[in-house]
Amino acid sequence: MAIRKPHAALLASPGMGHLIPVLELGNRLAIHHGFDVTVFAVQTDAPPTKSQLHTNPNLFNIIVLPPVDIPGLVDAGATIFTQIIAMMRQSISNLRSAITAMKSRPTVLIVDLFGTESLVIADEFEMLKYVYVPSNAWFVVMTLYVPTLDKEVAEGEYVCEKKPLRIPGCKPVRFEDLLDPLQGRKNQMYDDYVRIGVEMLTADGVLVNTWEDLEHTTIGALRDHKILRHAVNVTVHPIGPMIRLAGPSDSRSKVLDWLDMQPTRSVLYVSFGSGGTLSVQQITELAAGLELSQKRFIWVVRPPMEHGGFNYLSASKEGCDGTLDYLPKGFLARTHKVGLVVPVWAPQTEILAHPSIGGFLSHCGWNSTIESIVNGVPLIAWPLYAEQNMNATMLVEEAGVAIRSKLLPSKEVVMREEIEKMVRRIMVKDGNEIRARVEKLKNSAEKALSKGGSSYNSLSKVAMESAEAPDEIKTLFEQ
Ligand code: UDP
Repeated sequence: MAIRKPHAALLASPGMGHLIPVLELGNRLAIHHGFDVTVFAVQTDAPPTKSQLHTNPNLFNIIVLPPVDIPGLVDAGATIFTQIIAMMRQSISNLRSAITAMKSRPTVLIVDLFGTESLVIADEFEMLKYVYVPSNAWFVVMTLYVPTLDKEVAEGEYVCEKKPLRIPGCKPVRFEDLLDPLQGRKNQMYDDYVRIGVEMLTADGVLVNTWEDLEHTTIGALRDHKILRHAVNVTVHPIGPMIRLAGPSDSRSKVLDWLDMQPTRSVLYVSFGSGGTLSVQQITELAAGLELSQKRFIWVVRPPMEHGGFNYLSASKEGCDGTLDYLPKGFLARTHKVGLVVPVWAPQTEILAHPSIGGFLSHCGWNSTIESIVNGVPLIAWPLYAEQNMNATMLVEEAGVAIRSKLLPSKEVVMREEIEKMVRRIMVKDGNEIRARVEKLKNSAEKALSKGGSSYNSLSKVAMESAEAPDEIKTLFEQ
């Protein structure tokens, strides 16, 4: 039997923060590991633009699944989590039909966190099945351990007591850092979350966008049968940090031209991911804090929401109407010599890679986080939603590559004086010390991804598992 090229079908849930890492995994599998790749994306009312995707269309197929309808949920004010779960559930039959229609059947199905209900399709077509979590191992461990806690810990003793969530061998997760679905046991979101954990445990493996040196202890606990592996009986492959590759050079953004004119490491980049949105009051305080700091900045702004939060599913709509009247009066005129305000979307990876960038005030979405680390940029952590509080805690307390306010920006308004202080700390006072730690992590990331590095080897292992070939040939192939 000849070795057949592995063919991966990747399923991405709605939202740029979900699609981008799946595309990046597709790139990596195609370029470095010889896969044929088909990416299935679930359509939303704000499809990504070409410049947002900036992926090479020759590398793999992208199939956009037919749109699904969930108006009842939207009207009832369901959370984004619930909306995404419903969209993914409704897309299962579309995915099944699309795979049935393919001439060359995929050998492996890789879904993201919200797509675990589609893993049944892999069983139907006798494909291998993996879950790709574009986040860190600490978050993955928590998700995989929740079913055990749910079964074994009595009502009231976990979650309801608001105590830290204890996971053997890992840093406990503070109650206030938990995701919304885990902040109470009697709701549909909690049940869905437990189900996701259970379904992940049935996979042939879980891929996670982290690397050994960043999360040595957590990854070690996951492998150790005496610590966690008996409860979390699935192989977790750290394959990161995978970040999107730089975009096509013919569409160089004006933001980069502006950066070219600024001194080295003098600019703070401020952005809250693909959907992070602030309240009017927080926008006012942030603008004032930036102004008080007198530091250079690029700020990706988005129209305010009443209490801040996120606008994930429509957040990729470029431009909105372009007016910036929600910024404080006179702010643009007063800061135009030192600051650049960009509505809604900016070429983030290119910005972070620019030598003029000295710091990143970030909502700590995991993609943003690793994009910062890979470019050696220290962070001001400003977590807003999803697992970002955990990410911020890890960056500040474990990795030492970020500073943050004691306030939770998802719940409280951080005032201008504190913002000014944080900006000065990261850009002047403690910047070098923190940068030294980021540089170290950056180097370890490069090593992990290079040929023979830990993350490269993890993905090669998955590639081997996915190639249709007798074991003896696989062994030869591996040498
Ligand atoms: N992004 C970008 N330009 C923007 C905002 C976001 O290119 O103006 C990209 C960013 O580089 C990252 C992704 O969108 O790759 C956002 O993912 P992340 O996990 O940081 O946050 P999320 O949007 O999922 O909250």
